[in-house]
Amino acid sequence: MKSVVYLWALVCCLAIVNPASAAQDGLIYAETGKVSPLVESVVNGFQTLLRGSTIIVVSVDGDERQEMAKIASFLESKKIVKDAPQIIESIRKQFRRDKTGFTRPIWLSDNNAKGNACVLAVRQNEQATYANLLSKKIDEALVSGNRLMPLDVEVIQASIVAHEMYHCYEYLRGSMVTFWEGALETRLAYAMHRSESAADAYAALYVLQNYDAVNTVRMQMEFRRIGMLNADVEHNTAQTVEHVLTSFNNRRLTRMATGRLILMAEDIRNDKVMDEQAFVSLKKSSIEITNAYISLLSERPGLNIKREKAQLLTEKMALMDNTPQNSRLTAYVMNEISASFHKIGARTAVSSKYFKPLMERYTMKMTPDAIAQLTPPAHVQNPRPAPI
Ligand SMILES: [Zn+2]
Repeated sequence: MKSVVYLWALVCCLAIVNPASAAQDGLIYAETGKVSPLVESVVNGFQTLLRGSTIIVVSVDGDERQEMAKIASFLESKKIVKDAPQIIESIRKQFRRDKTGFTRPIWLSDNNAKGNACVLAVRQNEQATYANLLSKKIDEALVSGNRLMPLDVEVIQASIVAHEMYHCYEYLRGSMVTFWEGALETRLAYAMHRSESAADAYAALYVLQNYDAVNTVRMQMEFRRIGMLNADVEHNTAQTVEHVLTSFNNRRLTRMATGRLILMAEDIRNDKVMDEQAFVSLKKSSIEITNAYISLLSERPGLNIKREKAQLLTEKMALMDNTPQNSRLTAYVMNEISASFHKIGARTAVSSKYFKPLMERYTMKMTPDAIAQLTPPAHVQNPRPAPI
């Protein structure tokens, strides 16, 4: 009888103790404040993968002072005093600039894999709109009218949170030194492209698994392609995501744990991501088109043309590549961008006074065969482990 009482006491106390110990082991920094159920559920999926790490959730659509206070409080709890103002300042800059979401590692040591933190900055209060999904200079001039495809805001939100959380996972799964060793194996821009491809593949798998939302994944792919009008090829992950869409569906992904989805996402990325040379060529074409676009925008208020051009030049120089511009590839990039505008329903783009001259200048009349030939090679010849 006595042992039965003990047994009962054990069960009772386990039941009471469990939530408390779960909170202690939890990834989300306890002082972070209210976290949306969506963010909580995505982050908690990483519980066993990132034991011993911390996620500081920040709302990019929240009050700046309040959000920065969360980071300050975390740093204080870790007794980081000297570097705190500098860390907070650099996160504040990103907070002002990137309203879609971003992540930021806080490494507490150089060589330890455990004990580090990641700032997961995502929207938690307001819903995603065209205005915050596309770059400022693209949105205002080109996207208008009532034919735009409706956005499934909840799915887009889930996809962004899953994407950003994957970045946190990349930072936290190893030490700072391992992370940077991997990232510096190639040009940094290309390492970023590989990282973005895996993050998008994971986000697509997550969204297919939890929402079965094929159309939203496709729609986001079009946003990524349109980004090339903003010199952004790092985020043009369409080749990888396309493969997720053709190979997986909701039924195949049922009950797969986060770790499994990540392995699949990284395998697909390793297999389908364009190689470094193809990336550099596409980037150069994209920079050329963006440069011409910025010149056309010079009369528009609110855009610092000089700064934009200087930024482009810096990006071009960082590619460290002297091969001449491939005009057919530039035509291919232009075709991709205009096709994607069409697919999201931004039909005004084609007649826009800013965009039309670009089409006239760069687009070539091409047969489908010629277009297929221009598509950059999909396969990396020697797939290697993920750099970051
Ligand atoms: Zn990303």
